[in-house]
Amino acid sequence: MNSNLLIEQCEKKAQNLFNQIDEIALYNQNKVLNAFRENRISAMHFQPSNGYGYDDIGRDTLNRLFATVFHTESAIVSPLIANGTHALTTALFGVLRPGDLMVSISDKPYDTLDEVINGNGIGSLADFNVKYQQVDMIDGEFDVQSIFTVLKLKPKLVFMQRSKGYLWRDALSIEKIKKITEIIKQTSPNTIVMVDNCYGEFVEKIEPTDVGVDVIVGSLTKNPGGGIAPTGGYIAGKSDIITQISYRLTAPSLGLEVGSYFASYLPFYQGLFLAPSTVKNAIKGNILAEYVFNELNFITMPSVGKMPTDIIVSVKFNRAEELVKFCQIVQKCSPIDSYVTPEPWDMPGYNHQVVMAAGTFVQGASLELTADGTVREPFVAYMQGGLTYEHCKLALIEIVHELQK
Ligand SMILES: *Cc1c(COP(=O)(O)O)cnc(C)c1O
Repeated sequence: MNSNLLIEQCEKKAQNLFNQIDEIALYNQNKVLNAFRENRISAMHFQPSNGYGYDDIGRDTLNRLFATVFHTESAIVSPLIANGTHALTTALFGVLRPGDLMVSISDKPYDTLDEVINGNGIGSLADFNVKYQQVDMIDGEFDVQSIFTVLKLKPKLVFMQRSKGYLWRDALSIEKIKKITEIIKQTSPNTIVMVDNCYGEFVEKIEPTDVGVDVIVGSLTKNPGGGIAPTGGYIAGKSDIITQISYRLTAPSLGLEVGSYFASYLPFYQGLFLAPSTVKNAIKGNILAEYVFNELNFITMPSVGKMPTDIIVSVKFNRAEELVKFCQIVQKCSPIDSYVTPEPWDMPGYNHQVVMAAGTFVQGASLELTADGTVREPFVAYMQGGLTYEHCKLALIEIVHELQK
């Protein structure tokens, strides 16, 4: 079929979900706008600072702004956090002490945390005698029975990953996070519940911290950076927990008193303001992709017609060549480095070759339209982001055209 026609038909089918997405975006935009008004944001908050950064009003106010949006007592938002992995590492080391038990209940945490948790002799949590256990999910649902069992050990921390990451499962809905958090808090009230919130922000009307989660962690080159924050991460939650974590970010007792940034804070503020709308565009792109790949007889996660709960759509291809070609087309449709052809390569830390399309303004920013996959069965590609819906649509038109050849 003509690719333009196919896309138009898919768009019609997606209309119902699109309307729901619009409503969520309006709700979240209002939430963010009100947070700006409440914190009386003005141009002075964008000013750079230097040296120790005492009384850095831009930094302090940005922290408060995120805390307002996520309905938490406190937050750390900082360009000094290198990426999502660094934010998560800082949060984990901030609260865990030797002998403590950490339990992940949503399968294995994101790949980059493997060495943070279990690495040997590199300053991992294991090196500091923090114990780790894992409860895998069963068909995308929490294994409540096993979670009850492990809660008897009174873990210091229970960890969940909201997004699907590189796993073949749906992202956790807030409803699911709410139910399991209630169980954890009833069974072991002192256990800290932490959620890796990467890719989840503004996908629903509420966040994990609205349903009893103690602390959430994320990256500013993903959803809450709105596509323009140049770097950084955030950690938001209860103030005693955030204080502990701030001592790990800088130094014990110094916490958030120090830390300067000799560039404008403007993109962090503006990025947060744009985030609900940018996330909306990315999700609409995901939904369109679900319908399109369904027409082409590929299986996707989420499956066609289902409301996404993060900004990633996974596609199962039949052959390695299809996966590679798909990533190459996404690259070709990128505003940056469109002339580059990505090839599978042996990326450090992976056992199989990986192929990646990342023609992004901010290096590696996956709120921008990107795609990647590991070249091994079952040949799954992960397509995420999209600053504008139109960009996603144009890329999909080209993908349909090329894959049908
Ligand atoms: C991206 C991501 C991370 C790590 O973030 P980086 O910025 O790549 O270090 C952690 N967890 C999840 C679920 C992610 O999507």
